This record gives sequence, C-alpha cells and structure tokens, in this order.
Amino acid sequence: MPGDVDRLRELVHGARRAVALTGAGISTESGIPDFRSGRGIWAEFDPMEVGHISAFRRDPARVWRFYRLRIDVVRSAQPNAGHRALAQLERDGRLARVITQNVDGLHRAAGSDALEVHGALDRVDCLRCGARFGIDEAERRMAGDPEGVPRCDCGGPLKPGVVLFGEMLPEQVIDEAFALASTCDLLLAAGSTLEVHPVAGLPEVARRAGAPLAIVNRGPTAYDDACDLRIEGALGDVLPRIV
Ligand code: ZN
Repeated sequence: MPGDVDRLRELVHGARRAVALTGAGISTESGIPDFRSGRGIWAEFDPMEVGHISAFRRDPARVWRFYRLRIDVVRSAQPNAGHRALAQLERDGRLARVITQNVDGLHRAAGSDALEVHGALDRVDCLRCGARFGIDEAERRMAGDPEGVPRCDCGGPLKPGVVLFGEMLPEQVIDEAFALASTCDLLLAAGSTLEVHPVAGLPEVARRAGAPLAIVNRGPTAYDDACDLRIEGALGDVLPRIV
C-alpha cells in the first residue's frame, strides 16, 4: 500500500482540476453510523417507515423522532483527519471541489465548501412553500408544537433538509455534480461504495471524459474493476499522507 499512496499523491498533485467524491465511510471514522453495512442505520430502522417522503407526509412526528436522534449524533461529531486533509488540499489549490453524499456537515466544519448532494441535517425545508430554516429555529418550533413537528410560518410541516427516499435530488445540485465530474482531470472517490444513484454515475462520467478514477475505501465498491488506482484503508490514515 505505501507505493499506492505515493502514486495517489502524485496523481492528486499532478491534477489541475481534481474532484473528490465522498460517502459515509469518511464519517464513520468520526463515529457517525453508515446506512447500509451490517451495523448501519438501516439494519436497525426501516427506511420506508422513517426515511421516505410518504412516511413524512403520513406521520411527520415519527420521522422527526428518528431524525432528532441522528441530529444529536451529528452534533457531537467532529471532522476527522480525512475531512481535514481534503480541506487542506482545497486550500492548497490541489482540489477543485468536494462532492459528498453525506448530510452531516463535517466537510463544512473542516473548512471545505462541499457540494452536499443529499442535503444537510443542520437545516429544514417547508414541505408546502419551500422556505428554509436553520436547525436551531426548527428545534424551537418543534418544542412549541403539541405533536413535536416544527411548522413553517405558512403552517406547512418543516422537513429535515435532506433528500428522503422517494424525493428527487435538487436538479441544480445534481447538474453541478455532473458538470464537475465531466470537467475534472482526476476523480478521487473516498469512503463511498459508489452504489447509490445518481451519484454512483459520476465516476463513469469522469472516466468517459478521460479522467483517472482513484478509490480509497474500506471494503469493495462498484468500480473496483474499473478504476485506475484502488487503496484499501482508513481515510483518516490515507488522505493525510497525500496532502
Ligand atoms: Zn412554508
């Protein structure tokens, strides 16, 4: 692996528009459970009951009870060496952008202007009029609601600021992600199994545009046979070594 890390550092330092794509694996190292592994969130909760837009429309109080648990976990989490390494690469001008599937805000906390394609837990959106509030305001409103559901000024229920199952990703955000992938000259996928669409399509877009694909992950990914470099390892260990 040391040779592979050296090669990854050369790829990153030689690129002019490197883009990083991150998933749950970078945040598990900050103590945030992932979704799909054996110990992940969906092993304990049924996503159709707590993570689907139709569940929210049916019983927003139940969905909010689940999301408050997740928000509490995220609040106490800190960015780790992997988040900080990517932020440093950005500051050094070696990384054009971080695209993330994570909703925990840890890239932002580390100083990255990350494109959060699945939204973020520290904000809420009105289901009726689209107004957006911060999570602190949402919690104040939640505390004052008999059912524990935060409400907008318009009366509509405020929904966690993340993309729920059954919802479309915001078009503008996904367009931006595909534009970054199609114009990058290196895609570094870190901590993602690259299985969840539409983000899972980004490596293919980058490869078709001629950019090499480098993967750092613990465990297999959907692109293991179609990448230029594959490093098995902890991101908090590997990424600081390529700064
Ligand atoms: Zn509203």
